[in-house]
Amino acid sequence: MMALNSGQCAVNTATLGFQCPIEQSIDAIAAAGFGGIAPWRREVEGQDVPVIAKRIRDAGLKVTGYCRSTYLPSPTRGGLLANIESNRRALEDAAILGAQSLVMVVGGLPAGSKDIAGARSQAADGVAQLLEHGKRLGVKIALEPLHPVYTAERSCVTLLSEALDMCHHIEGSVPEPWLGVCVDVYHVWWDPNLARDIARAGREKRITGFHVCDWLVPTQDVLNDRGMMGDGVIDIPSIRAQVEKAGYKGLTEVEIFSAQNWWMKPVDEILRTCVERLASSV
Ligand code: ZN
Repeated sequence: MMALNSGQCAVNTATLGFQCPIEQSIDAIAAAGFGGIAPWRREVEGQDVPVIAKRIRDAGLKVTGYCRSTYLPSPTRGGLLANIESNRRALEDAAILGAQSLVMVVGGLPAGSKDIAGARSQAADGVAQLLEHGKRLGVKIALEPLHPVYTAERSCVTLLSEALDMCHHIEGSVPEPWLGVCVDVYHVWWDPNLARDIARAGREKRITGFHVCDWLVPTQDVLNDRGMMGDGVIDIPSIRAQVEKAGYKGLTEVEIFSAQNWWMKPVDEILRTCVERLASSV
């Protein structure tokens, strides 16, 4: 397989540990030769969004995904509606940023609930309502299934097959889907049906994002101890080959949450290492 160059890749700004304002992240990511950026709402909301959008464009960067949705499931109907509304506003900012998609992490169990089926059904309801808004704005919704360890608190959608089923349930089979999935190696690498489901995602034209990092052994923290590509146990080149064979032509996005290691290093060093590892280990 061809080594990836940074122009074929994007950096999710969480990788830089939110050490600097978005403007500096944009400049540093562009200077390192990357082709895209995935900003977070915490860096964008309350700011002058068109100005940030212009800075990204002027730097020559694409926006792969805007991170991320407000969790949908709520103990009350009013709460669900408020969460949907919050995501409508995020879709509007995503449109201004020129983002290809809003990354949709659907949320886990509502506080006090043991009703996982109910949470999934609320998530599907919410995504269905947001889809039309996204279409009008020209922003895709990219469902990201998370590793099952996050089911309670972050995502009641854990398998790639579940995310694809949800897309199909909501949108049906359409030639140009607006509802897609993000394949994040950290979340799906262990799935015995991964090859089957990546191929299916390709046939259904749903692959909207491809995120890379690594799974460290032992892991200190399932949230904030992700590894740099090549430092863990995920066969990233094999998953990349499957995603490309399935027809994905978008950017490969680096997304590393690493509170005790990478986030403590200077931004330029993090980016330099990403460039090297994208070429050698992805
Ligand atoms: Zn991801």
